[in-house]
Amino acid sequence: MRKIVAGNWKMNMNYHEAAKLLDEIIISRSSKPDDVQLIIAPPAIYLSEFSSALRDLENISLAAQNVYHSDNGAYTGEISTSMLSSLGINYCIVGHSERRTLFKETDTDVNLKVKSLLKDGIQPIICIGELLHERENETHFQVIEKQILAALEGLSEAESAKVLWAYEPVWAIGTGKTASAEQAQEMHAFIRKILSENGFNTQTPILYGGSCKPGNAKEIFGGKDVNGGLIGGASLKANDFLQIANSF
Ligand code: PEP
Repeated sequence: MRKIVAGNWKMNMNYHEAAKLLDEIIISRSSKPDDVQLIIAPPAIYLSEFSSALRDLENISLAAQNVYHSDNGAYTGEISTSMLSSLGINYCIVGHSERRTLFKETDTDVNLKVKSLLKDGIQPIICIGELLHERENETHFQVIEKQILAALEGLSEAESAKVLWAYEPVWAIGTGKTASAEQAQEMHAFIRKILSENGFNTQTPILYGGSCKPGNAKEIFGGKDVNGGLIGGASLKANDFLQIANSF
């Protein structure tokens, strides 16, 4: 299974800061073997230029942080999957908990985005994760199962093979609290079980996300169903991000 470390830069850094961080990552990766795929999700406004800068580098790809599901039309402020595809963007994060919570995105929105991305040849990185009270009242497995099945509603096994998953317990995002390596592995194995039971592809990467840092990445990535990480805060410093990428 390929190993992936993705950095979600969220709404951080002006253009000059972002370009400097990308340069630092490019310089460091050009002298390293290609065994870990890096994915960078910068603010959308930088995707066009970054895509030219990364054209010749196979082990660093770009992801959008979000997309709208319609092809084109009167949707002021939105970006379509075909626009991303025309820039050669390979991945797009879908259903991040900040989108679900702050922008009220539903499971149905996630499903529409996934379908539109796949139509345009872009691999969705679908974020799923339970809230703190759902973990505490032990409904976290049901929550995750519902999110998976809703995200893949109407998709074939072959289409599901193009999806990447990010298990991001919401209580661990940006909070400094991390799921233990056992909790992460347990949920990743559960995700594969649900995919298998429902006839979907089980060989797609499942990343862990939630306060992953250089100090805890190795332990978390040790789980046999943990194929990498989706990194928020720690992806904003080249050294931290690259150290995490070297934690397998
Ligand atoms: C994220 O937002 O996807 C994330 C994992 O954030 P952080 O690493 O900051 O918890």
